[in-house]
Amino acid sequence: MASESSLSLLTLTSSQEDSIISELRDNEINLQDLHDFAFDHTDIVEEKFDISHYQETLPNHNDLSTQTVMQAQMPANQEFAGELNFELLPNQQDGSKSWVYSAKLQKVFIEMEKTLPLWVKWSPPHGQLYVRAGMAFCEPTHRSDPVTRCHNHIALSDQNIPYLRHVLSCKHNGARYCETNTGHYSVLVPLGTPEPGTDSVQMDFTFHCKNSCSTGINRKPTEVIFTLETDRAEVLGRRKLLVRICSCPKRDRGKEEKELRESSGGKKRKIMLGKKYISLPVEQQHETESEIFSFNVKIYGRDNYETVKKVTSSVMAQTLVDGGPSAVIQPLIEYIKRLP
Ligand SMILES: [Zn+2]
Repeated sequence: MASESSLSLLTLTSSQEDSIISELRDNEINLQDLHDFAFDHTDIVEEKFDISHYQETLPNHNDLSTQTVMQAQMPANQEFAGELNFELLPNQQDGSKSWVYSAKLQKVFIEMEKTLPLWVKWSPPHGQLYVRAGMAFCEPTHRSDPVTRCHNHIALSDQNIPYLRHVLSCKHNGARYCETNTGHYSVLVPLGTPEPGTDSVQMDFTFHCKNSCSTGINRKPTEVIFTLETDRAEVLGRRKLLVRICSCPKRDRGKEEKELRESSGGKKRKIMLGKKYISLPVEQQHETESEIFSFNVKIYGRDNYETVKKVTSSVMAQTLVDGGPSAVIQPLIEYIKRLP
């Protein structure tokens, strides 16, 4: 498997680099050759090199004594599903009123200290993998600044929690809290394997400050970057989710969707249903577009049943074509395909 033969330089600590260099020296390899690899941590997000000779010196999530990892100055946020098709989906069946998801904005609005359940999906769903979740500022001008809790909420907290300065935590016994050499925080969670009959694992995340906290996030837009990693910290996939932590999630979602609608001119959208185009009323599109509906009906005849399945899939496929969020819609289409 790929993780046995390559490693992202992103996660080597200086002591681990020293260890590799000393082993290279023992093997009488010209250190100048090593310099040719250009050890520049600001420029290594996707760069890998063959380290199969130095397997024993590789860092491992299980034996990192300090939780400090090296990271580029700016956390990368380019999404890629990777070979394992890494996907994240807010669990909207949760029924909680403390958070809402806007598919239109691809953004979660959530109250502070409330749980955000996310489905994590990867295929094949074998074990020994991890998800790392870390918060970042969206705007390029603040991208390199770490997202930390505000003085007020740190002071009010139990001072013994392992995520005292982290805005984001995960409710998982195996969660570990990391800080990079650049001051960026993340939580590393072992994925385990899905329960029989399911193809995803649920992870519960909690946010410990609001976007409006003046000595912390200070009103800047934020996102969470999720990476799928091997036990040797190789990044196999990356996803991001815009997040706003606020007091009134539903109100703020409405406000931001309205702003988006006004900025895009509020045109009527046509969707294809069977062979006909149907215009959705503008209000209906925006009020309900980000929700997921389910219905259970009895259908007479196999042909009719197959037609309903086909129409349901094609309506959602059209939303995908119109720029709908694939992380949300694709699993719903896949589910229909798998129906008997
Ligand atoms: Zn705060």
